[in-house]
Amino acid sequence: MAQPQHFSYSDPYNPTPNPALESDEARIAFWAKQARERITWGQEWPEELTHSFKKPEVIGVDEDGVEQLSVPEIKWFAGGKLNVAFNCVDRHVEAGKGEKVALYFEGEPGDREAITYAELQRRVARAAHGLEKLGVKKGDRVVIYLPVIPETIIFTLACARIGAIHSLVFGGFSAEALKFRVEDTGAKVLITTDGQNRRGTVVPVKVNADDACAGENAIEHVIVVDRTAQTEAARAEVPWTEGRDVWYHELIANVPDSHDAPLHDAEDPLFIIYTSGTTGKPKGLVHTMGGYLVQTAYTHALLYDLLPDYEDEQGVLRPDELSAVNDPAKVESTVHWCTADLAWVTAHTYEIYGPLVNGVTEVIYEGTPNTPTFERHFEVLERYGVTNYYTAPTLIRSLMGAFPNGIEQGKFDLSSVRLLGSVGESINPEAWRWLRENVGGGTASFIDTWWQSETGSTICSPRPHDPQFAPSGTYDDDAPHTRVKPGCATRAVPGVSTRVVDEYGNEVAPGLQGFIVVDKIGPSMARTVWGNPQRYLDSYWKHYGERGWFLAGDGAKVDEEGDTYILGRIDDVINISGHRLSTIEIESSLVTHEAVVEAGVCPVEDELTGHQAVAFVTLTEAGQALSAEELKKALSEHIRKEIGPIAKPKDVVAVADIPKTRSGKITRRLLGQLYQGQALGDRSSLQNEEALEAIEKVLAAR
Ligand code: ATP
Ligand code: MG
Repeated sequence: MAQPQHFSYSDPYNPTPNPALESDEARIAFWAKQARERITWGQEWPEELTHSFKKPEVIGVDEDGVEQLSVPEIKWFAGGKLNVAFNCVDRHVEAGKGEKVALYFEGEPGDREAITYAELQRRVARAAHGLEKLGVKKGDRVVIYLPVIPETIIFTLACARIGAIHSLVFGGFSAEALKFRVEDTGAKVLITTDGQNRRGTVVPVKVNADDACAGENAIEHVIVVDRTAQTEAARAEVPWTEGRDVWYHELIANVPDSHDAPLHDAEDPLFIIYTSGTTGKPKGLVHTMGGYLVQTAYTHALLYDLLPDYEDEQGVLRPDELSAVNDPAKVESTVHWCTADLAWVTAHTYEIYGPLVNGVTEVIYEGTPNTPTFERHFEVLERYGVTNYYTAPTLIRSLMGAFPNGIEQGKFDLSSVRLLGSVGESINPEAWRWLRENVGGGTASFIDTWWQSETGSTICSPRPHDPQFAPSGTYDDDAPHTRVKPGCATRAVPGVSTRVVDEYGNEVAPGLQGFIVVDKIGPSMARTVWGNPQRYLDSYWKHYGERGWFLAGDGAKVDEEGDTYILGRIDDVINISGHRLSTIEIESSLVTHEAVVEAGVCPVEDELTGHQAVAFVTLTEAGQALSAEELKKALSEHIRKEIGPIAKPKDVVAVADIPKTRSGKITRRLLGQLYQGQALGDRSSLQNEEALEAIEKVLAAR
C-alpha cells in the first residue's frame, strides 16, 4: 500500500493532531466515513444531521446574579437506523464467519466453553425472546447484575437488539449499591444469578437481588441465571418470589433461536453506565447507539492494531490511522483479553462491543486474578494464545507483589502476546516495565489508554506502532527522540482533541499542571446523566461554559514534545505550601521502593502548609521486616530524593489492603476521611469495604 494522502506531515509520530482533521468539517467527515464503512445501517442518516452540538449558552441569571447555562445537546448520525447487536454478531455470521470463536469463556472452577459467532447469534436471539416474553420493550431499562460469564454479554446484546437500555452492575457489589442503580434507572427487569463463584467458594447472590428489590421500584421480574445450583434440589433452596422471579433456562425453554433485529435510531439510548464513584456518588451516564458503536469500532481497531499497514519512505510499516476498514489478516490473528469486569466502561467498549463489532476472538475469565492462584492468569494467556492483553495498573502491581522476582523464565509460553494495554489509573513506570518484560517479552507494544465512562472510548493513548516500542535494550530512557515514555498517555486519537488549560482556559506551559479538557468531542461522548441533565452540565460543561469544552476532572501536563501526562484527579491534588503535587506522582515514587507493594496517598489538612501528604502502604517482605519508624524514615528519605523535601509524607501507615473501587481505583478521598476521623462519604462502589475497617483499627491502635 502506498503512503496514504492524509499523512501530510513528515513525522507520523508527531503528537500534534492529524492536520487532515483540523477543521470541524474534516473531523465530522472523518466520523461519517468511519460510520458508513464500519457499521451496517438499515437506513443512512441525512447528511446534514451527521453531527450537531448545542454548546451551553447563557440563558439568564439567578437571584444571586450568577449566569445560568443551558444543558449541552450532542447528536451524531441522528435519523440513521441500525441494530447494534446485528452489527456485533449477525453480520459476521452472514459474512461466513459463523464458525469463528467469538468468546472463549473460562470459569473460576475451571469450566471452559468456546462460543462461535453462530452460537452467540442463537443465544442472543433466545435471550431477546425471553426478555420480550416478560414484556420488555424498547426504552425499558434492564439491570444486569451478573459475574463475568457468557450470559452477561448475551443479555447485554439482547437488550441492545430489542432497544431496551441496559445497565450493568458489578457482580461483587452489595445489595445497597445494586438498589441505588435499580431505583435510579427505574428498571423493569433485573437479571442475576443464584450464586457466584468467588475465590474458591460459592457465594449466594440472589438474596442481594431480593434485598435490592425491596422497597419502591419498578421491577416486574427478576431473571435468575443458574450459575452454581445446577440441580433441582439446589435450585429449590434459592429464595424465590412467585410471579416475579423466573429461571432463565425455563424462560427460554421453548423460544426460537432466531430473532428479527428491529432497527433503532442512532440517538436511541443504548445503555446507562454508572461512574466508578471514586470521587463521590456515581453518575448514570447515557450512551446512544450509533455514535457509541462507531467510535468504539474505530478506536478498538486503531489501538488494538487492526488497521492496515503501509510502507513509508524508510521501508517501515506504519498503520494507516484514518482507515475505515480493518486488515482481515490482523482480525483473524487477534485473540483479545480485557481483564475488566464486564460492568465497567472499559469492558463495555473493549470487551463487549469493540471486539465483537470488529469480529475478533476474545477471552473472558470469571475469577479474580489470584483465584485459584495468580498462575491461572498466565495459564489463560497461554491456553488461548492471547495476543492483546488489556488490564489495569492495580492488577499489574499485585502481580508484581505475587512474583517479586518476575515470572520464572520458560514457565509459561507467553510468546503470543504482542500488545499490552493499561487503563484506569496512571501506570507507574515500574509496573509498565515489569509487565512489558514479564508478559510482553520485552518487545510488545504498550498502550496507556486514558478515557472515562463519560467519553465512552479512549481519548488519549500512544499507538501500537509508536517507535517507543522498540525491543527493550535498544531504547534509551533519556534520549527524547526514542520517545520512551512509560506512563504517558501521549496524544489524542484522530477525530477528537484535548488541551491542557488553566482554570480560565489558557493553555498552560509545558511541564506545568493544568486541567485536561476534550475540546473536540467524538461520537461516543455521553449524551447526559440519566434523569439529571443539570448534573451533566454542572459536572462537566459548566466550567468552560460557552466554549463547549468537556472538563474531564483530571489534572494533566504536556511535555516539551507535546505529549500529555495524566496526573490524577483534580480533587486528589495536594497543595503543600502553594506547591501543587499529584498524589499519583508520590505513589509512583513510593512503589519503586523495595519495601512497598502498593501505595495510596491522600491530602490531609494542615494549618501551616495547607495540605500534607499521608501515605498508606502495603508492604513487601522486606518492608514487613522494618519497624514503623524505620519505614517512615526510609520512605521519607526516598521521596525526598525522588521528588523533593516538600513531598515528604507527614505520616506513613502500613496496612494490609488499600481501599479501591470495583475498577481497582484507590479511593484517596476515603483514606483522607479515615485519617482525619471524618464521616465517610459514599462507599457503595468499593470492592474491598473490609479494608476500611482494618485501616480504622490500625489507626486507632497507634
Ligand atoms: P467518578 O467519576 O464517579 O469519580 P471514576 O472517574 O473512577 O468515577 P471511570 O469513568 O471509570 O470512573 O474512570 C475514569 C477515570 O479513571 C479518569 O477520569 C481518570 O482519572 C482515570 N483513568 C483512566 N484511565 C487512565 C489512564 N490511562 N491514566 C490515568 N488515569 C486514568
Ligand atoms: Mg470520573
